[in-house]
Amino acid sequence: MKAFYAEEQKRHDPRAFLSSGAPQPNPEQPERVERLLVGANAAGCTIERPRDYGLKPVAAVHSPEYLEFLQNIYERWRRIEGASLEVIPNIHPIARDGSYPASAVGQAGYHMADTSCPISAETWESACWSAWSAVAATEAVMSGEAAAYALCRPPGHHAFNDVAGGFCFINNSAVAAQHLRRSAARVAILDVDLHHGNGTQGVFYRRPDVLTVSIHADPVRFYPFFWGHADERGEGAGLGYNLNLPLPRKTGDEGFLEALNAGLRRIQAFAPDVLVVALGLDAFEGDPFGGLSVTTDGFSRIGEAISTLGLPSVIVQEGGYLCDDLGLNLEAFLGGVA
Ligand SMILES: [Zn+2]
Repeated sequence: MKAFYAEEQKRHDPRAFLSSGAPQPNPEQPERVERLLVGANAAGCTIERPRDYGLKPVAAVHSPEYLEFLQNIYERWRRIEGASLEVIPNIHPIARDGSYPASAVGQAGYHMADTSCPISAETWESACWSAWSAVAATEAVMSGEAAAYALCRPPGHHAFNDVAGGFCFINNSAVAAQHLRRSAARVAILDVDLHHGNGTQGVFYRRPDVLTVSIHADPVRFYPFFWGHADERGEGAGLGYNLNLPLPRKTGDEGFLEALNAGLRRIQAFAPDVLVVALGLDAFEGDPFGGLSVTTDGFSRIGEAISTLGLPSVIVQEGGYLCDDLGLNLEAFLGGVA
């Protein structure tokens, strides 16, 4: 299987992270890349560097003011006397019905959902290359590959049209799906990350041409809290084209696969031309987030079950944090798909 990754994706190195209000090291570490590369290589992937696709495929998903913000906010932030070393918001609009702020502090609160996605000098470049890896995998599948893997880091599925959040800046899975729409009438996104793909859901919530399905730990007591519940089904023309399958904490392989089968049945009924898999590996029993209890063998079975759809598939890396088996879990999933 072809795989895509660029070295620039490793430069983003976030420090700050608040967990239940307490400062902790940010879990979205560059070292994740090393372990995922080992897994992709072990699965027999040939790793290629994507080309620079420019902003067009990214701007098909994100607003111009948001992209302008991501590109320039760090320099503006550093000019504020006494500001933190990374851009971190400290005020948010409770509703987005007021004026668009002119100040750097106001814009940080407007465009950042939480404190887990600090922006440094390297963030914009890393996020662009991460998205371009997704575009390259998309183009490989559009030119006839059965499946391709994008080692996207930083991840993307918590990023909305104009909001960063949960370690995510550019929504790589949404960029892939939108790029596929150039030649495919119907695209399905299946998100198997531990956390609900709230940004992806938000991007396509009012559209019937992109089906979004997410399997995740029940947000009643888990990030992202405000989204991911079973009664969120889409709106307007998109009503019925979003399916959330929340699982009780610590659900293992059997429960996860049962939900996956329900998701696969919905995808079959939708009859898409192509599939995007938002591949988080943090549902693993040994992941530091500890939300679900999927095993390494479980990831292999998840990959196999997805392959029974027989759809061309763009596999986009989302979460999955530092633990001994991170690479093995990727190898198991990709082996299952193949
Ligand atoms: Zn996650």
